Amino acid sequence: MEKYLSQLNEAQLEPTIQIDGPMIVIAGAGSGKTRVLTYRIAYMMSKGIDAFNILSLTFTNKAAREMKERIASIVGTSEAKNLWMGTFHSVFAKILRIEADKLGYPSNFTIYDTQDSDRLIASIIKEMNLDKDIYKYKQVRSRISSYKNSLITVRAYFQNPELKEADAMARRPRMGEIYKEYVDRCFKAGAMDFDDLLLKTNELLTRFPEVLAKYQNRFKYILVDEYQDTNHSQYLIVRALSDKFQNICVVGDDAQSIYAFRGANINNILNFQKDYDDVKVFRLEQNYRSTKNIVNAANSVIDKNQTKLDKVVWTANDEGGKIKVNRSLTDADEGRYVASTIFETKMQNQLKNGDFAILYRTNAQSRSIEDALRKRDIPYRIYGGLSFYQRKEIKDVLSYLRLIINPADEEALKRVINFPPRGIGQTTVDKLIVSANGYNRTMFEVMKNIDKTDVKINSGTKTKLQNFVTLIESYQVLNQTADVFELAEHVTRTSGLIKEFNKDGTPEGVTRMENIEELLNGMKDFVEGQKEIVDSTGSLAEFLEDVALATDLDNDKGEDMDRVSLMTIHLAKGLEFPYVYIVGLEEDLFPSAMSMNTRSELEEERRLFYVALTRAEKQAYLTYALSRYRWGKLVDSDPSRFIEEIDEQYLEVLTPPEERRFNPMLDADIFGDVPTEQKSKVSPDKLRFKPAKQVVLKKGSTKKAPEKFQVTQPKNLKPVSKTTENTNLFDSKLAVGNIVKHMRFGAGEVMKIEGTGADVKAEINFQHGGVKKLLLRFAKLEVV
Ligand code: ATP
Ligand code: MG
Repeated sequence: MEKYLSQLNEAQLEPTIQIDGPMIVIAGAGSGKTRVLTYRIAYMMSKGIDAFNILSLTFTNKAAREMKERIASIVGTSEAKNLWMGTFHSVFAKILRIEADKLGYPSNFTIYDTQDSDRLIASIIKEMNLDKDIYKYKQVRSRISSYKNSLITVRAYFQNPELKEADAMARRPRMGEIYKEYVDRCFKAGAMDFDDLLLKTNELLTRFPEVLAKYQNRFKYILVDEYQDTNHSQYLIVRALSDKFQNICVVGDDAQSIYAFRGANINNILNFQKDYDDVKVFRLEQNYRSTKNIVNAANSVIDKNQTKLDKVVWTANDEGGKIKVNRSLTDADEGRYVASTIFETKMQNQLKNGDFAILYRTNAQSRSIEDALRKRDIPYRIYGGLSFYQRKEIKDVLSYLRLIINPADEEALKRVINFPPRGIGQTTVDKLIVSANGYNRTMFEVMKNIDKTDVKINSGTKTKLQNFVTLIESYQVLNQTADVFELAEHVTRTSGLIKEFNKDGTPEGVTRMENIEELLNGMKDFVEGQKEIVDSTGSLAEFLEDVALATDLDNDKGEDMDRVSLMTIHLAKGLEFPYVYIVGLEEDLFPSAMSMNTRSELEEERRLFYVALTRAEKQAYLTYALSRYRWGKLVDSDPSRFIEEIDEQYLEVLTPPEERRFNPMLDADIFGDVPTEQKSKVSPDKLRFKPAKQVVLKKGSTKKAPEKFQVTQPKNLKPVSKTTENTNLFDSKLAVGNIVKHMRFGAGEVMKIEGTGADVKAEINFQHGGVKKLLLRFAKLEVV
């Protein structure tokens, strides 16, 4: 038997070596479901199954990456490269690109993220003169999303009077029209939103039997992790693709189904056995992740749910410490408790920050925790906030790039047509939209042929529009020869973006510049990294696709400094950490006030709590505050029922808050406080190197940005030779051998300097992150 298989217990081994036919592994948290999937793929490959014939669908791209690495370590990298592995969205986006023409889409279609969808919907609501307080764009978007995930197309909508009635009851009788306009506009813009990636895949597989056959034959073996959280649309795709060979293996845990609010259907896992013939069912019972106390406590809570499959979960691990329950007076106290115990535990046990995770029900709760961590100088990272790629300045750059490959992209165009300002006002844009709708052309086409249209604008504006078209077209030409990095570098400079962000001189402007630096560095990495990947062209389209589907979790390349993780429980699914804090365990917060209406909603909250608790390996902490700021008001709260539901033998209830509320030695601002109004402005990255030189700038302060960001005239640059002192504008005395400090990568040694003028780059060997090539014009380096 293959050696790696000895790393599985008997119950795990069975499903691992069962290759053919439909099968399901239903098992509790931490019992090795993901491990079985991973080893199963390695085993299949060792038995001669071609990686090309295996499709594996995971909950995050990060999970896919990790599985792939593990498989590569068993079967070899070159073999593993050919596996199709990723989220539903990323896998089917790739297939849709290949087959796009069948659906009338260009293969370089844009993927609209939630922000793009929101903007388009808001704009449609405005164009239709609807009351935006009734037609709230976010609600409209989520309604459209649920139609799509239930496969209700526009046509199906209009054929079903009940839907129209339901929307009318919700005071939105014109929902259908918005839906239709939204779908039409996306189509015309050559854009698909996230839900389209699944909906259109379904359309593709149903309307084109030959396409279905092609992918059925290709993906002879299909595996799905976290099956309990698939929605209807995903379910149908899996069914269709596996229909021919029926080699389908799904793993999941009904007790961890937590995405019903986004359309996940727990019945998919409950009914799996009815969907296929002769389904083999496997159960795993031994948990390898957590201590006895944690496993037993989690079991005792989930036991309170009525709707569930019977399951046994036990562990041979140590008993471990009891689960610590801490009560605080306020949310600020709660934050202090978390920060100080992390600090102490870390010191006592020689741990890393990365061993700790803080989980909460809603994103808003992170603020008080962040404040406390900052005071203690504990580096942290928040997952799932605004993703890096959704930040304003990043979206601005990306919008230019999107326009280059798809000039029909309406949202990208609207975003940058007048940014940086070039005198094209909203009235002109509105006229272009109307005209584009009238001619049934894209806005870009209307602009390009402005003289042939009846758009009423003066000749000055016409020239501005034409200049913009020419600018984008010149980028398109460059795109034929330059790589993503070179192109983006050129675009940020010549579009005036850099000048614009430099100009404002505020701390926000500085941060924006740093983010653009980060984006360009990421592109450089992408260009380098892509060289290794077999079926990759390293093209702009590919980069943009990665970006559109990247979640915050996926951006984490592990090269970052050691940090505490903060995230919502929803995002923590499938992950594990030695020390886990579940904070804000208060009635109306967790369980959420919105979930108390029905038993099934409450049961979903309880499953969420089960997921949270089972992330912990060694020690779990449950915390709650007696009062907390919510929506700007101080509200009193009661401890969550979930704490009471845990069998008390597994709990250790800590000292009342009166006694530990404020320990002057631990909690006083001996680490140097940051004035309140600045707190949310200081990014965790900054914190790490905050001492000494770095100035924390105040919002609205008139303090100028660091010198290097105020200069924007690359043409005045002198050439720089490799050996002499670097005379570029930004770091005037950088030379080979210098030790420098970078905000993100820490200290490093300059290995090489190359390029001239605005393109001077330094190769630096960093303590964290290894050798990086940075563009000095952007890189924020400090010589030490
Ligand atoms: P979840 O339900 O949270 O997704 P899971 O069932 O997918 O959990 P895994 O993540 O696969 O569980 O495994 C949990 C942990 O236990 C991992 O750290 C894994 O490496 C470890 N593990 C699983 N099986 C074994 C085993 N047979 N021997 C040693 N460690 C194991
Ligand atoms: Mg798992």
